[in-house]
Amino acid sequence: MQQTVTFPSGTVEYHFQSSFSEYLGACDPNHTVLVTNEHIAHLYPQLFEGRKTLIIAPAESSKCLDTIGRLTKELIVLEATRKTTLIGVGGGVVTDITGFLASVYMRGVPFGFVPTTLLGMVDAAIGGKNGVNAGLNKNIIGTINQPNFILFDTGFLSTLPDEEWSNGFAEIIKYACIFDADLFAELGKNSISAYREHGNTDLAALIERCVAWKNKTVAEDEHEQGVRKLLNFGHTAAHAIENMYELPHGKAVAIGMVIACMLSEDVMGLDKGVTVQLKELLNRYGLPVRHDIDVKQAMDILKMDKKRVNETIDYILLEEVGKAVIKPLPFSVIEHTLAQI
Ligand code: ADP
Ligand code: ZN
Repeated sequence: MQQTVTFPSGTVEYHFQSSFSEYLGACDPNHTVLVTNEHIAHLYPQLFEGRKTLIIAPAESSKCLDTIGRLTKELIVLEATRKTTLIGVGGGVVTDITGFLASVYMRGVPFGFVPTTLLGMVDAAIGGKNGVNAGLNKNIIGTINQPNFILFDTGFLSTLPDEEWSNGFAEIIKYACIFDADLFAELGKNSISAYREHGNTDLAALIERCVAWKNKTVAEDEHEQGVRKLLNFGHTAAHAIENMYELPHGKAVAIGMVIACMLSEDVMGLDKGVTVQLKELLNRYGLPVRHDIDVKQAMDILKMDKKRVNETIDYILLEEVGKAVIKPLPFSVIEHTLAQI
């Protein structure tokens, strides 16, 4: 199924329930360069044989300007021109690198994404943010530039490790919390193994539902001045503890969502039962609900947050399941809750 969505910075073709090998068969090898990581190249060698390919190490540390410099030199050796399309095949690291490289190489060449992780399919590959890190500062250098296409081939998920399934579900649970109470209920009746087994039909529908939520939000507010901020639910505390404890993104977001719910109880009068349900859901999808946190260190990191305004941070809170709001919270309130988790 194909769908076209127009954003302020560009129009994207979505190829849902597609086969990447079929799509690739129709691409001119002289005008296509694939970008992937060592794992994917090793797992799916037939995709890359006889194709111009750039390979990066499978690690967050690849997401830096050194990699962009190296890949630029390789593109020159491959005689890539403005007519060359870069296709990123991998998780969030690969698609971020590909989008950034394609945005700056020769001041911009066409590019597309083939996310191979669940998290990539429902979140990282969508929305047009392409960035690299500088030291500990995540995505501090980047562009907002939409890919020409995103292709969803759930066949890649057959090799995805269990932990990566859980990480993807953290973002899916996030969409349910902020936008979609029906999805919250549906997730409560299902499980990772059920979604993996149902001949992909439920899974495909689930992915398309999340993509639709993200597209709607980004189309309204591509530069994150308003409604796009809601997608940061669970992410403020997550960004602090992710670096402190080297947690995978999904696990950090899971704990961050619990913290956001506890804050919502205090500040918004959120029903305590919602936090209990959220914890059950996170457990169900193999995600943690708490972590011992060095509160002082976490507060020092939060004080550097991009969302800081004087002695407050714009925090995403829940009024109820499916309804999120942005509230400036004083540091003292956040500190109090972090000490309780
Ligand atoms: P990357 O962009 O390098 O894939 P991510 O952090 O987004 O990075 O991906 C998480 C991990 O999952 C990486 O080690 C990556 O190589 C691996 N991975 C991605 N897709 C698949 C897949 N379909 N099967 C197996 N492993 C995968
Ligand atoms: Zn996230």
